Amino acid sequence: MFLKRLEIRGFKSFADKTELEFPKGITAVVGPNGSGKSNISDAVRWVLGEQSAKSLRGQKMEDVIFAGSDSRKPINYAEVTLVLDNESQTIPIDYTEIAVTRKVYRSGESDYFINNQSCRLKDITELFMDTGLGKEAYSIIGQGRIEEVLSTKSEERRGIFEEAAGIIKYKARKREAEKRLEE
Ligand code: ATP
Ligand code: MG
Repeated sequence: MFLKRLEIRGFKSFADKTELEFPKGITAVVGPNGSGKSNISDAVRWVLGEQSAKSLRGQKMEDVIFAGSDSRKPINYAEVTLVLDNESQTIPIDYTEIAVTRKVYRSGESDYFINNQSCRLKDITELFMDTGLGKEAYSIIGQGRIEEVLSTKSEERRGIFEEAAGIIKYKARKREAEKRLEE
């Protein structure tokens, strides 16, 4: 499974609809300071369900929406679509291409879609659990993550291996079942 395309509109510095293609092999994003390189990786984490505005380098979720510039008015919503190649059937569903979309409005209202069908955030999180691609997964390595891998705290190290081993989904379901039993 690999990233094919990222479509960004109204997210951070990307006011206009911007499409980034990731052909096979390695893609490097280069550009001057402040040109939006990190905003691209923020967009990837955001569409995969990141809920922490701080980890997206903002104060509140609204900060991901294009705030306007000298020549442009602010925009009312941000939208990001990430398209993944699933020919390998890494995710065992009937699609060879998976597009996940997230939208957020200034009102705080959010919409999520998988292949253009409306869904819950939970469906996106579950879809990527154990694939190594979730927002907390090991395929996106940000600052501080390396330290986590090297961390002496066994709990933190274990989380990474559990994701790689593909058992996070079962642990999450178990937790949910236990929660329901308690209620
Ligand atoms: P560096 O090389 O310094 O790491 P970078 O290319 O990673 O730079 P980013 O951090 O991705 O740059 O982009 C920062 C730019 O994005 C800033 O100019 C900031 O004003 C702009 N920006 C962030 N959020 C918004 C927003 N909501 N609306 C408009 N512009 C935004
Ligand atoms: Mg940067």
